[in-house]
Amino acid sequence: MSDTHADVVIVGAGLAGLVAACELADRGKQVLVVDQENAANLGGQAFWSFGGLFFVDSPEQRRLGVRDSHELALQDWLGTAAFDRPEDYWPRQWAHAYVDFAAGEKRSWLRARGLQIFPLVGWAERGGYGAQGHGNSVPRFHITWGTGPAIVDIFARRLRDRPNVRFAHRHQVDELIVEGDAVTGVRGSVLEPSTEPRGVSSSRTVIGEFEFRAQAVIVTSGGIGGNHELVRANWPTRMGRVPEQLLAGVPAHVDGRMIAITEKTGARVINRDRMWHYTEGITNYDPIWPLHGIRIIPGPSSLWLDATGKRLPVPLYPGFDTLGTLEYIAKSGYDYTWFVLNAKIIGKEFGLSGQEQNPDLTSRSVRQLLSSRAGSGAPGPVQAFLDRGIDFVSADSLRELVLTMNKLPDVAPLDYATVADEVTARDREVANRFTKDGQITAIRAARGFLGDRLGRVVAPHRLADPKAGPLIAVKLHILTRKTLGGLETDLDSRVLKADGTPLDGLYAAGEVAGFGGGGVHGYRALEGTFLGGCIFSGRAAGRGAASDIA
Ligand SMILES: Cc1cc2nc3c(=O)[nH]c(=O)nc-3n(C[C@H](O)[C@H](O)[C@H](O)COP(=O)(O)OP(=O)(O)OC[C@H]3O[C@@H](n4cnc5c(N)ncnc54)[C@H](O)[C@@H]3O)c2cc1C
Repeated sequence: MSDTHADVVIVGAGLAGLVAACELADRGKQVLVVDQENAANLGGQAFWSFGGLFFVDSPEQRRLGVRDSHELALQDWLGTAAFDRPEDYWPRQWAHAYVDFAAGEKRSWLRARGLQIFPLVGWAERGGYGAQGHGNSVPRFHITWGTGPAIVDIFARRLRDRPNVRFAHRHQVDELIVEGDAVTGVRGSVLEPSTEPRGVSSSRTVIGEFEFRAQAVIVTSGGIGGNHELVRANWPTRMGRVPEQLLAGVPAHVDGRMIAITEKTGARVINRDRMWHYTEGITNYDPIWPLHGIRIIPGPSSLWLDATGKRLPVPLYPGFDTLGTLEYIAKSGYDYTWFVLNAKIIGKEFGLSGQEQNPDLTSRSVRQLLSSRAGSGAPGPVQAFLDRGIDFVSADSLRELVLTMNKLPDVAPLDYATVADEVTARDREVANRFTKDGQITAIRAARGFLGDRLGRVVAPHRLADPKAGPLIAVKLHILTRKTLGGLETDLDSRVLKADGTPLDGLYAAGEVAGFGGGGVHGYRALEGTFLGGCIFSGRAAGRGAASDIA
């Protein structure tokens, strides 16, 4: 780049970086956004996302009869986060501020910038414990009409053609420049041009060096989910052994390199052992990035079996407690589990995360939406996995199903009698409108919510009912996604040193900062809180840097 003057350099053109850039540009600052990937990757992970957003007491909730409140959301957040460390001081402040935001101006602020919201609200992470335990007491997962690309576009289009905003793509930051006690710029490698499409791993061949100086640097470089070495190195011992087989739910650029680079300047990294990985990962039959997996967003009716064919313990039902399930699996000695279900359940209850897996919502096509989701049978993208996905099998009888499950690669042979016992026992519990079985009770409770009854949860029925068939089994893998810990920041997104004071000139936002504070979620998350965390902390970083510099 010829003109390298900038007031602020932002490292990372993902959602957090774009939001910070908008705030700075609106305040008349000269902004330079540096990213290791090409321009096709603008928006980073957010582009790939489903666009789920956590709002509290929204008109969409109210229309569906959901009574939500700031108090209830805070109770859920704190029960889920379970903050218990001295270093949770700033994460806790961020949690309070974020719930205020989600129950307050978040919706109107985004709507004023063009956000449109799909009217059906989803109920993610239902918890299944007590009122003060993990999970959402009510549905809060609002889907962006247009999914991830629409969220990115809200900010990307505000930056287009702004004379005070420039991008340096294929610029990989390797070092932060520190002079005196302050961060004054970035240094790194210019990577060879890449014409790879969005999401595809790009070359790391270096063709030059660069150095950009500024009054402030904002690090918005994302988490570690695409770097399985780092995931394994930071794997929490409380979760059991490190899984040997992992799928990647994020592109390779989510490499976590900037965390150590930033730490070298004296920045403090906290809660490294907190992460958010999914347990319903399936192998993408059409991968874009290495080990590309897709997350099933499941309704509550599938029977969840471990690798030996035993049902997972209460309350580890689909969509209830992601990390509780991960811990159970990691301690089971196997890296995978099974869903057993049928055609009726898959048709209504399987969602797939990711913009490309939801072409109807992504293209904002009402006609496509009605034809793919209101009809009988699985929506197109789910059917494509049934037809082509290596983790899916189906059969007309349970015996045949188990035989076919046992033919999948890398599975411990299942004993038919064990699986049949679980399915038969579960099926006996649907004969009455009441039951002792917690999962069946949870399915009935879910159908008390109009959104679930209409679009998400089938009436309890026997899995083996031939009218609901054929039977289906899905081999589920662990899928890496989000990093919950990171650079410790105060409420202005200023990066803190070990002594708790700000490192002059340095800010961080988004996933690299644990979505605010170094871990706004604590141990677990309520879902739809990551994009919002990038927006909230990116906004704070942009505003903080703008007011701190001359
Ligand atoms: C498939 C999928 C579905 C999701 N669905 C949802 C959802 O529904 N709701 C929700 O809340 N969240 C969701 N998420 C999570 C959310 O999208 C991410 O947490 C969020 O977008 C992270 O944004 P970020 O700006 O912090 O980082 P990123 O998007 O990772 O961007 C970081 C950028 O920094 C660049 N970078 C990194 N290191 C360097 C370096 N050294 N030099 C230069 N550049 C560098 C990278 O190339 C990248 O472009 C989903 C994620 C995925 C992948």
